[in-house]
Amino acid sequence: LFFLIMPVGQLIGAYSQLQTGLGALQRIEDVLRVPTETEGDVVRVGPPRESRGATPVFGAGAVPALVFDRVTFGYGEGETVVEDISFTVSQGTRTALVGPSGAGKSTLLALAERFYEVRSGAIRLSGADIREVSRDELRSRLGYVEQEAPILAGTLRENLSLSAPGLSDDELTDVLRRVNLDEIVKRSPLGLDAQVGEGGVLLSGGERQRLAIARTLLAAPPILLLDEPTSNLDARNEQAFRAAIDAVPTDHTLLIVAHRLATVVDADQIVVVDQGRVVGTGTHHELIESSTLYRDLASHQLLVA
Ligand code: ATP
Repeated sequence: LFFLIMPVGQLIGAYSQLQTGLGALQRIEDVLRVPTETEGDVVRVGPPRESRGATPVFGAGAVPALVFDRVTFGYGEGETVVEDISFTVSQGTRTALVGPSGAGKSTLLALAERFYEVRSGAIRLSGADIREVSRDELRSRLGYVEQEAPILAGTLRENLSLSAPGLSDDELTDVLRRVNLDEIVKRSPLGLDAQVGEGGVLLSGGERQRLAIARTLLAAPPILLLDEPTSNLDARNEQAFRAAIDAVPTDHTLLIVAHRLATVVDADQIVVVDQGRVVGTGTHHELIESSTLYRDLASHQLLVA
């Protein structure tokens, strides 16, 4: 009986590993621009990687990249997590969302990706209400790197190739250098073929996020939504994360949830969120003057008097 149970147990173990792997792959496909959506008879396919940004689907010019227009939302019925949120992200600029834990910052990124539907108000992408945009189109234009970005068990090369197959070693090494990850290539004699482990366990939390940023940079969406990790960021990783943000091409639009003001003091615009509401908008210097909450955050984190 033992000899019968052992293989069955192994099979169940393998099945559960497969499920975990498939779940991670699905999540990665969700946030990368893999066109899979069928709408009626029409399969909407995003523009090829090379043309993204160069030939915007929704038109460029003065139309803002992203607009939150009086957005209200709650996860549960009768619960309001963000309320009446309005701000505009202009093309090619960097906007940071800051505020206390639980204020609703990450929720705003999830709403922009349409992981949830707004209860009222609207989010507009290059002028188009995101409810009118196919999910594939949306995700081809909005790259999203969440705090705990899913990493696939496999090699560095396999993780990067998900968004851009067929790149040369030089191109892959270059993107890893841009996000300060070239060290991990040198760390193993296998280089790009080094294993990252199940869910990326062989990497540190900061390294996992930077690998996800590299993957998204290769997918080249014109707008990048980035959720800075709250944990796993020691001083070295924090600096590397900032360097990874700097690696985002300057013509790309960036909306970043920042837990450390040092990451975003030089952002074009900082939106201060508190208890689900916008309580201040401006540059670092403007907010130091105008927002008590921002000044408090800054005095704690940046030693500003
Ligand atoms: P932090 O700085 O700690 O990351 P945040 O400002 O990003 O916080 P959110 O993560 O958006 O805040 O969370 C806002 C509120 O919504 C919190 O009360 C949180 O518990 C709740 N919340 C977040 N995600 C979910 C979810 N998937 N289901 C239910 N409630 C959620």
